Amino acid sequence: MVGADIEGLIKFFSKMPGLGPRSARRFVLYLLKHKQQKLLPLIDLLAHTAEHVSECTECGNLDTENPCTICSNQRRNKAHLCVVEHVADLWALERSGAFQGIYHVLGGTLSALDGIGPDELRIPYLKQRIQSNQTTELTLALNVTLEGQTTNHYLAAELASPGLKITSIAHGVPLGGELDYLDSGTLITALAARRTLETEES
Ligand SMILES: [Zn+2]
Repeated sequence: MVGADIEGLIKFFSKMPGLGPRSARRFVLYLLKHKQQKLLPLIDLLAHTAEHVSECTECGNLDTENPCTICSNQRRNKAHLCVVEHVADLWALERSGAFQGIYHVLGGTLSALDGIGPDELRIPYLKQRIQSNQTTELTLALNVTLEGQTTNHYLAAELASPGLKITSIAHGVPLGGELDYLDSGTLITALAARRTLETEES
């Protein structure tokens, strides 16, 4: 039988996304066996992150800097804005290394049923950013779900304006697909094959 503290630790980790009781046990045991090299540095990292982490006031990414590392990177193309649902999607696209612009995290999708309208999704701020960044291309990289595509169409219609090219990733993203679960190759193809959406302005 393991002690109550350690049992508590295992229980805590087993509730984390992607970890079950078995991997939580292995994880905790590994940390305990490598106190100096793993456990103590982990505590420092967690404490530092907990103290500094916040939502980027520009794009909505999570980072220990605000504006985040992406928004404050001068080499990123500020005129190309990519709209995603969640931070996980932003991180997935970053992992692919295929996108050199900046992002806008909506925080979800439109849902009349759940009472989620444009104001709940940072859409008013998206309009502001398009203006202030003088965005020339807006890439909609929402998940290929019914809600994602409904939001896609809403944004394309709502944001259409002369001089703004609105594109959408499509090719290679399976129906029901969430960006976070796709491999980098699929995402690179999806970004490269983005198509211009039909809007009233174009
Ligand atoms: Zn940011």
